Parts: sequence; C-alpha cells; structure tokens
Amino acid sequence: MPPDSDNKPQKNIIETIRSLFGLNNTAPGKDGLPPKSGFNIWYVLLFFLFLTSLQQFLFAPKVETIPYSQFKQYVAAGKVSTLTIDPENIHGTLTEKPGQGFTTVRVNDPGLVKDLDDHNINYSGQTENKFLSFFLSWIVPIGIFFLIWRFFMKKMGPGMGVMSFSKNKAKIFAGSETKVSFADVAGIDEAKEELQEVVEFLSNPGKFQKLGGRIPKGVLLVGPPGTGKTLLAKAVAGEAKVPFFSISGSEFVEMFVGVGAARVRDLFSQAAKQAPCIIFIDELDALGKARGMNVMGGHDEREQTLNQLLVEMDGFETNKGVIIMSATNRPEILDPALLRPGRFDRQVLVDRPDINGREAILKIHSKNVLLGPEVDLRKIAGRTPGFVGADLANLVNESALLAARKNKETVEAAEFDEAIDRVVGGLEKKNRIMNTKEKEIVTFHESGHAIVAESLEHADPVHKISIIPRGIAALGYTQQQPTEDRYLMTRPELLDRLAVLLGGRVAEELVFGEVSTGAQNDLQRATDIARSMVTEYGMSDRLGLVTYERSRQPMFAPEGFSSGKNYSEEKAAQIDEEIAKFIEEAHQRVRKILSERRIVLDKLAQLLSEKESVPGEELRAMLAVA
Ligand code: ADP
Ligand code: MG
Ligand code: ZN
Repeated sequence: MPPDSDNKPQKNIIETIRSLFGLNNTAPGKDGLPPKSGFNIWYVLLFFLFLTSLQQFLFAPKVETIPYSQFKQYVAAGKVSTLTIDPENIHGTLTEKPGQGFTTVRVNDPGLVKDLDDHNINYSGQTENKFLSFFLSWIVPIGIFFLIWRFFMKKMGPGMGVMSFSKNKAKIFAGSETKVSFADVAGIDEAKEELQEVVEFLSNPGKFQKLGGRIPKGVLLVGPPGTGKTLLAKAVAGEAKVPFFSISGSEFVEMFVGVGAARVRDLFSQAAKQAPCIIFIDELDALGKARGMNVMGGHDEREQTLNQLLVEMDGFETNKGVIIMSATNRPEILDPALLRPGRFDRQVLVDRPDINGREAILKIHSKNVLLGPEVDLRKIAGRTPGFVGADLANLVNESALLAARKNKETVEAAEFDEAIDRVVGGLEKKNRIMNTKEKEIVTFHESGHAIVAESLEHADPVHKISIIPRGIAALGYTQQQPTEDRYLMTRPELLDRLAVLLGGRVAEELVFGEVSTGAQNDLQRATDIARSMVTEYGMSDRLGLVTYERSRQPMFAPEGFSSGKNYSEEKAAQIDEEIAKFIEEAHQRVRKILSERRIVLDKLAQLLSEKESVPGEELRAMLAVA
C-alpha cells in the first residue's frame, strides 16, 4: 500500500470535486503533470453554449424584435409585405429587405385587422403547433427522465432492475471456487477446532443424520475487526467443498420497505436448493441490532428484515444441510432473539492472536515474499502485540513495498522495522497498541488480579492471564473459570470477588507507588458489588436486614430526573459509609496478600511481558513453590 494510503478516500472526494469544477491544475499529480480527468462538467456546459449559439447564428432566420409602435409605423408606411399572426406574436417581413424578418409582441389592438386591410397587407393567422408543443412538453422530459433512470440502473449493476429488487445480492461461490482453506488461517486455533465439526457435518451430512446428532443451525463468529472472521467462514466452505452464499448484513437493509425481508426469503429458498451449503451473513450487527432500540418506536425496515431472518432460521431443518454462519464484532448490540437456541446457538470467539499465532500468521502472509536471511518472524511477532491478522498481512505487504521502493532483492529486517513503526503509529491513534510503560503497568495490574484470585479460598481459579488488548476499554484480562454454576453467592464469596477486582489497582500501588486510570472499570464493579451487599442483600452489620431499593431511572427521563429514594438522606450517607468500609477492608486484605507474594508478583509480571499470556496452571505452580 502506498504510504499515504490512510487519507486516500478523503483525497479522492476532493479530487472528484476538483475535476468536476475543472480545478485540476491546482493539484498536480505525483509525476508533476496534472492528472487526467475523464469527465469535466465545464466541457458539457461549453458544448451546450456552442450548440445554442450555432442555432442562433446559423439556423434561425435573421429576425429583429421591434416595439409594437414601430410595427404600426411600418404598417402605416406600407413597408410590410407579409404577416403571420399567432396568439402571442406577430412575425413579418419588410418589402425593402425580404431576407430580414421582424417580430413583435401582440398588444390588444382591435383596429389592427382594419389597418392591415387598408394597407393591402397579406396576413394569415397561425395557431400553436399542437403536436410540437405536446412533444416538447411531454415526450422530451419523459424521455430524459427515462435515460437518467436507465443510467442509474446500469450503475447499480445487473440484477438490480425494477423486477429484481427483492432478489438478493448474495455472492455465491461454488464449492470448488472457494480457494481458502484452513491452512490459510492461523493464530486462532481454538476457533478453527470448533469449526472443524461444522466442516465434517457439511462434507458428510449422512453420517450425522444416521446417528441422530444435532448440528448447530447457526454459528456466530465473534471477535474484533481484522481477526479473520470472514476468512474463517470462507475456509469452512472451502474445506467442506460446498457452495457458499456470502452477503453482508447491511445489504439487506434497503431504502424500500419490505425489500430486505424479501431478500432474506429469497436467500433461504436459493440455499435450500443448493444444500448442503453455507449461508454467511457478514457484519450481522447491521441487521441484527436489538429491536425496540428505535427511538421513534414503530416497526422499521430493519426490524422487519430481522424478523424475517428469525422466521427463516426457525423454519428449516438443519438436517437439510444448510448451516448459517455469521460474523460480528459487536455481539453486545445483537438482538437477544438471535442468540436463542435453535438460531445462532453456537458462538465461536475469534480472538486477537498471541505471539505464536502472530508468528504463524506472518509465516502465511510472507509465503510469497522473498525474505532476507536475517529476518526473524518470531522477533517481529514479539514486537507486535495487539496486532490482528489483518494488521500483520498489512505489515508484510508494507515491508515488501518499502523494499521494492529501495530496489532491494529481498525484504530485510530494516523494512519490517520501518513498517512496524508506520503501522504502530497508525494503530496508536486508534488506541490499540500499548507503549512500553503502559505494557509494564498492565502486566503488574493483571498479575495482581490473578494472584489475589489464586490466593483466596472462595474466588474462582484463574484460567488464563493475558495482556493482549481486547476491546476498547480493557488493556488485558484475567480469565477466571467458575468451577460450577452459581445461583447463590455467600457473603465471603462476594467479599473475595471484591478483593479480586481490587487486585489490579493494589498491585499498581505497590509496584509503582501510583495508580493509573486503567483500574476504573474494576473500581466501578467493586463498588457495585459493595453497594448491592449493603442495599440489596442486607449484608451490612450496621444497617441490618433491610433492603434499600436502588432508584431505577425511568427510560427517557430528562437529565437529573430522580424518581426519589425511599429512604432518608441520613440513611443514604450511612449506606455510602458502609460501602466505603467494605471497599477499604478489601483493600487492606489485598495489600497484605500481594505484599506477602511480592516475589511471585514480579516473576509473573516478567513472564507475562515475555509471553503475553500465561495459563493458570503455571501461576499455580509458581505459587506452590513460593
Ligand atoms: P474480519 O472479518 O474478522 O474483520 P477478515 O477475515 O476480513 O477479518 O481479515 C482480513 C484479512 O486479514 C484476511 O483476508 C487475511 O488476509 C488477514 N487475516 C486476518 N486474520 C488472519 C488469520 N488468522 N490468519 C491469516 N490471515 C488473516
Ligand atoms: Mg469481516
Ligand atoms: Zn483490572
């Protein structure tokens, strides 16, 4: 990609406008010459001007417009030879200059006919040309509209004519056409494994039917942009060698009411004929936003389309061999109905790759790139935490371009370094890549959570600790795995949960002597737990077994609207004190735990900064020896 590719779309718009107004000369192209433009509105205007003047000078008879009084003088002087009188104008020629005509606007002059008769002038009346005026005022405009309409229809591409608006635009790839296979996807092995089953079903549906196994109807791929969700869906189709209907959620949502729903119906009926096959709806969130979020209320187009999708998904049997795959990077806004059993009942997390995954992805994308002998993909992977597959593909491409620009034979480490800086610079703007200091803070923060979780009796064991950024808010995460399903929680369990939430912040305090803003969400959740313990569960000794209902903010209430508490200000102050007490006690506890395990904290943080993600077992082993 060229270096200035990020501002390309903007530049394109500006250039289009420039070329529209013929301002191209002010924007010389890269080679110093003004860029050529195919279409310039000034040319069209000039052409019209030319046509009009041509008509004026060549084809129109030489006609002079004169005042009516002068016309009367001509008549009186007998200079007029013939006259044509129509309802609005009088055209005539003069006896002296036969080639020279004149015209004048009629005025109300009842004596005119008598005048003309008196001077023996040859005159005739004329009515408007009915056909010509009809032609000009009706046929021509309609014709022009038709041409414009045709033009736009053509621009919209085939299959979008009036008759086929309801036909869907799904791109269909026959089984053999999808060239992507699992070998082209790396770094997201867990997701790949889960989809293996789908592949097996599609390539041999009979086997599963005989055993009566139930295959998921819908598989939802969830993950940040660029992690390879679309790629993975294509790979499933490629592996199973079945047709692949690919459509993007936004393509369902049309400006015409009812079209989206019709498209859904059409898509499913087409797919049923081609079974076994895959329907892939990319960017499902464009279509599947929770219903009822429309402020105006009512039943809008998108809602209708979504309803139709739900109906279709319920309506067909999986055993027919149609599997619906879908991808989104915003699962939280999806309509809950989509996630119910029998619809997208299987969700596959497509996460950011860790260092091994990144190395594997780099390997795939540099397959066709001539790498210098000293290029170490592992090292590059180590330098690019937070990069997703698309970023890495871009990185390889960028390096190759840099090498080509320098006329090198192979792509060397220097180019990768330069490209990383460039890509990181771009990504940093989007707040996805950490600098070194941030990374250090995050490693200790997450280590703090993890060690506290492992040290407390009632906390869930740690599954995985990671500093690979996820989402917008969280810079790292500590994944705990509940040992069983929980419906009730006891007071000690809640207190331990509170402590784990504070672990990150306390670790920062201990190590750096200062705290960052990264703990904000933790504190909020901790406060929520403490508040619930005091006001809802009656777990505070001081306030006792009373619940203080949280005031629920009514929907659409104006800012600052309060529905009123059902307790006094004094009680409110006591509640706040109790909450603060719970938090402070937890704080002291966590400080003690982490101070005692300071060595493990440092070791874990070190390990985390090297490996980026550490499984829970490793932490348990470290704690056991310490
Ligand atoms: P998503 O749909 O999750 O936003 P895409 O599947 O469109 O991401 O990925 C864009 C491109 O990035 C792919 O075409 C591929 O070249 C590259 N890519 C992304 N993830 C991977 C991966 N895990 N392995 C290999 N290439 C990847
Ligand atoms: Mg995609
Ligand atoms: Zn935290």
